[in-house]
Amino acid sequence: MSILLTGGVGYIGSHAAVTLAQIGHKVVLYDNLSNSRADVVSRLARILGHAPVLIEGDVRDTELLAQTLRTYSVSAVMHFAGLKAVGESVAQPLAYYDNNVTGTQCLVRAMRRCGVRKLVFSSSATVYGEPQYLPLDEKHPTHAVNPYGRSKLHVEEMLSDLAVSDADWRIACLRYFNPVGAHSSGLIGEDPNGTPNNLMPYIAQVATGRRDRLSVFGGDYDTPDGTGVRDYIHVTDLADGHLAALNFLGRDDAAGWHAFNLGTGTGHSVLEVIQAFERASGMNVPYEIVARRPGDVASSYASSDKARQILGWQAGVRLDEMCISAWRWQQHCAQL
Ligand code: NAD
Ligand code: UDP
Repeated sequence: MSILLTGGVGYIGSHAAVTLAQIGHKVVLYDNLSNSRADVVSRLARILGHAPVLIEGDVRDTELLAQTLRTYSVSAVMHFAGLKAVGESVAQPLAYYDNNVTGTQCLVRAMRRCGVRKLVFSSSATVYGEPQYLPLDEKHPTHAVNPYGRSKLHVEEMLSDLAVSDADWRIACLRYFNPVGAHSSGLIGEDPNGTPNNLMPYIAQVATGRRDRLSVFGGDYDTPDGTGVRDYIHVTDLADGHLAALNFLGRDDAAGWHAFNLGTGTGHSVLEVIQAFERASGMNVPYEIVARRPGDVASSYASSDKARQILGWQAGVRLDEMCISAWRWQQHCAQL
């Protein structure tokens, strides 16, 4: 099957490209390279033995998208492209609504024009907002608390409306928890510009000595050790979840709109992640506990029952392995 991956050069898209290509799908990457580098394609070629097609373009360019869908006889789309930094979304909300919401609108217009109606969308656990209960299941009320989260929720709702209007659509919104780690080759991974916002890349840079110490945001949460608890999921498990969602959309009973959590179901505290990273790298990760980060919740982790029951998918990689792969990538990445 020929599958278009918008944002396919980015962190999660590039790992999904490997998973899909390795089982024989033809992947077409479509990316404006606003947060990624074209040389990822040559690194994908080293992993796969062939280079996937890259079309350099923006998801808001409906014409180019339609042309790409036709040229490559695309049957399904995985939509990773978008902006993802919460803080930036507060400072530049219009950029977020434009890229994430308008971008998705342009994409589904192009898909409809070309008769492509299978879509896997990169959503986020952030659509749940402050947890009212744990673990978070897909029935938990949605209430996004920042422009990034709202842009994801708007897209989910738009896609749900679209599926109601036309029964031919098959749409899976995948609500990722905290993706971390990298491909076992160490050739692709997360390479944030500037200071990392997320915990794992920050820890990795402290371990290499690029940054002095980690600031642990809050030591007085109502959690076993007082630090924030999250559901970290390895990026290759996440990629497998996309393949499972794609297979599901091919089933007779998959018409309509569906939401699935992609998480492990297990929460780990910041201090647990630091300790696991120290074990994985053999390096010291100095840290200091500072004030809570505004907007953070104490704990967030998934119920992954729905994905297990309906997609037949569950995460398998444990925290230590996540840290080992993140460390391997960090060492390669420094040489790129
Ligand atoms: P990423 O920034 O590494 O990848 C996104 C890719 O999309 C980049 O290559 C970027 O160049 C491209 N892109 C951005 N805007 C575009 C546009 N208008 N047109 C074409 N290409 C565009 O991010 P990622 O971590 O791989 O995330 C992928 C998706 O998953 C995003 O939609 C993100 O919101 C979502 N998500 C990520 C996380 C996470 O922690 N990484 C968590 C939940 C959800
Ligand atoms: N965190 C931290 N220091 C950092 C970055 C993150 O203590 O430099 C904490 C954060 O408060 C949260 C956890 O690590 O408890 C995961 O944060 P991240 O930004 O990676 O993910 P998210 O907040 O989106 O779940």
